[in-house]
This record gives sequence, structure tokens and C-alpha cells, in this order.
Amino acid sequence: MPNEIKTYDLVIIGGGPAGIVGAATAKAYRKTVAVVDNHHELGGTGVNTGTVPSKTLRETALALSGIKARQLIGMDFSLKQEATVADFLRHEQHVKEGFNTMIPEVSMVGATEETLMKAGVDYVVGRANYRDNGRGRIIGDLDGFLKLLFRREDMKLLGVHIIGEQATEIVHIGLVALLAGSTADVFVEACFNAPTLGALYKSATIDAMLKATGAEASLSALAEAG
Ligand SMILES: Cc1cc2nc3c(=O)[nH]c(=O)nc-3n(C[C@H](O)[C@H](O)[C@H](O)COP(=O)(O)OP(=O)(O)OC[C@H]3O[C@@H](n4cnc5c(N)ncnc54)[C@H](O)[C@@H]3O)c2cc1C
Repeated sequence: MPNEIKTYDLVIIGGGPAGIVGAATAKAYRKTVAVVDNHHELGGTGVNTGTVPSKTLRETALALSGIKARQLIGMDFSLKQEATVADFLRHEQHVKEGFNTMIPEVSMVGATEETLMKAGVDYVVGRANYRDNGRGRIIGDLDGFLKLLFRREDMKLLGVHIIGEQATEIVHIGLVALLAGSTADVFVEACFNAPTLGALYKSATIDAMLKATGAEASLSALAEAG
């Protein structure tokens, strides 16, 4: 119906990081949302021109120069003497397309699904994939994920599970939230830098809220675009 008029609780003009997180949050609160953007790809400056491309170029420079390897073991493991523009662009393209072969880090704190099931606790799982996170794509970890366990009745955080790069570092965000007795609100209200793996907490929380409210579509891919 070409003349059909649709109404929404919220219309967001601009599908950059602000618009996307706003849309995902509104959806988690069961609002209907439309996102309007005049660019052919969502993500705004964060994905298309600024944040992700610039951090990808930095990561590529570190990898090609061997700087990271030298800092680690004091030896020159330079991969290439002369990096070309094509080398940089190739990595950026790979980040956008997605590829990975890595040995994952594993870290967890708090309850597991098994212990919660045994204890008869009604819980909801929120999951965020590294591949849907700007930093995850930049570092090339496309298999990693963060899983949060919340008590359904009050969305209190009960468990944090991470498999992926930097898992042993980013688990501390969840550890502190657990010690503080936090609920999902803490991650919804927190403003995370982008692109960071820390932002996975917001994506996983929104995913859990969508499931808790019975919403079918997961917006985890949209929740962290910057
Ligand atoms: C080189 C560079 C590096 C950066 N690095 C970082 C970083 O490392 N970390 C960080 O946190 N921030 C970084 N930033 C800043 C970050 O990109 C911005 O803060 C962020 O993108 C702002 O998000 P936004 O959603 O408010 O706006 P934008 O990302 O600008 O998104 C606005 C969206 O609105 C759309 N739009 C505009 N006008 C209209 C219209 N009339 N109708 C429909 N759609 C419209 C645009 O197409 C776009 O998709 C960087 C910026 C640049 C330029």
C-alpha cells in the first residue's frame, strides 16, 4: 500500500551511534521505532568514515610494523619492511567483511546457567557478539561473545561469561557491577566509549531486556555501531 501511513512511538533521524543505541534502547522498552538515514549504510561517522576506519588503520599499522611483537618480547618480528596503502585498505576491507582464526581467552564471574537452573532461579540471558562490535571487528575476533545472566524478576546481574580477546580484562566491568549488586539499568544508563569491547555490556543488556519483555527481534547487531 503506497499511501499507507505508519505511526511509531519514536522516529529517529540519523542512524549513527547515537541513533542506533537510542533505537535499540527504545525497542528494549517495547516502543516502536523508525530510523531514517540518508546514507546507504547505517552507522554514521562511527562506522563509515571516522571511528572504526581510523582505529582499523591504527591496528593495521601496529601489526604490519611489528611494534606489538617488539613490545612483548624485545625482538624484531616485523612482518613487513614496507607497508603499502593496499595492505592497510585490505585489512580495513577484511574488518568490514569479517574473518578470523584465533585462540580465544575465557573468563567468567558469578553464576552459571547450570547453577541457576539447579537453584530454580528464573533468569534471562543477554548475548553480544564481538562480530557485531566495532572493536571486535577491528581486532578480527569474530567468534568471541559476552553473555550476561540476569534474574528475570528484577533484572539483577547474576553472572558474566566471556570468550574472546581481552576476556580477562573486560570481565572486570562485570565483576564490579556484580559486587555493587547492579541491575540491567547500570549498563543501559552507562555511556561506553566506542569502539570498545566494554560496549558489549550494553549490547548484551539490551538483548536480555528484549528477551525479558518478549520481543522477538534481537538488536544486538545494531546496539553498538560506533
Ligand atoms: C576521524 C574520526 C575518528 C573518530 N574516532 C572516535 C573514537 O575513536 N571514539 C569515539 O567515541 N568517537 C570517535 N569519533 C567521533 C564519533 O564518530 C562521533 O562522535 C559519532 O559518530 C557521533 O554519532 P552520532 O550518531 O551523533 O552522529 P553521526 O555518526 O554523525 O551520525 C549521523 C547520521 O545521521 C545521518 N544524517 C545526517 N543528516 C541527515 C538527514 N538530514 N536525514 C537523514 N539522515 C541524516 C548521517 O548519514 C549519519 O548516518 C571520531 C570521529 C572522526 C571523524
